[in-house]
Amino acid sequence: MPEACPVCRQAYEPEPGFYYGAMYISSGFSTAILLAIGFLLYYLADDPPLWVYITAVGAVVLAVTPLLFRYSRALMLYAFGGTGFDPRFLRR
Ligand SMILES: [Zn+2]
Repeated sequence: MPEACPVCRQAYEPEPGFYYGAMYISSGFSTAILLAIGFLLYYLADDPPLWVYITAVGAVVLAVTPLLFRYSRALMLYAFGGTGFDPRFLRR
């Protein structure tokens, strides 16, 4: 990860250990995925065996881990890093 945004120079790590909180955000995303898949399988697939739940949740969470990593860090930066959306930096 670069030290600062190449466009607006926003520091990507405002302080050491800043992204520890992103683990909790990522954990929340994972929990939401777990619950969504659990409810979908329970109601749409008529409550399959336990290994189906475990395999489905594991596969989906593994597949979206790169997205969870990036979006949890971005949310952390927006929430606590003193940054925000600035339309002047939109690409045209
Ligand atoms: Zn930027």
